Amino acid sequence: MKRCKYCGKPLTGPQEKYCNADCRMKAHAFNRFMDRKTHSFLFLFIVGTAGIIAGSVMMMMKPGVGTGIIGLSLIVWGLNFFILPFGFPDSFYWLGILRSIRIIRAVSLLIILCGIVIAILGFGG
Ligand SMILES: [Zn+2]
Repeated sequence: MKRCKYCGKPLTGPQEKYCNADCRMKAHAFNRFMDRKTHSFLFLFIVGTAGIIAGSVMMMMKPGVGTGIIGLSLIVWGLNFFILPFGFPDSFYWLGILRSIRIIRAVSLLIILCGIVIAILGFGG
């Protein structure tokens, strides 16, 4: 069954990709937004990943600081995915863009919360 690429509703009529003009417009707007922000997304993604690696190395010398850096990096990572909810695997597309974004935002909030807790434990302990 074909589904709307934006909202994920099954397509019953002759539509090819989207259920209506509204969904098509929003999907195109999201794609343009994604095109414009890909570099920022990748930059923050690399910063977060580098931070996690640096924090892991640091943990061997100063466990508290290392843990804190990992926590901060997770916050960067989570914020990145929350503000720029890209990079979802193709398997997500059957859900539609809208639901994929919601799932990514929910997961990124969890990552941010974990990051805050880990940063507090690391720097505080
Ligand atoms: Zn739709």
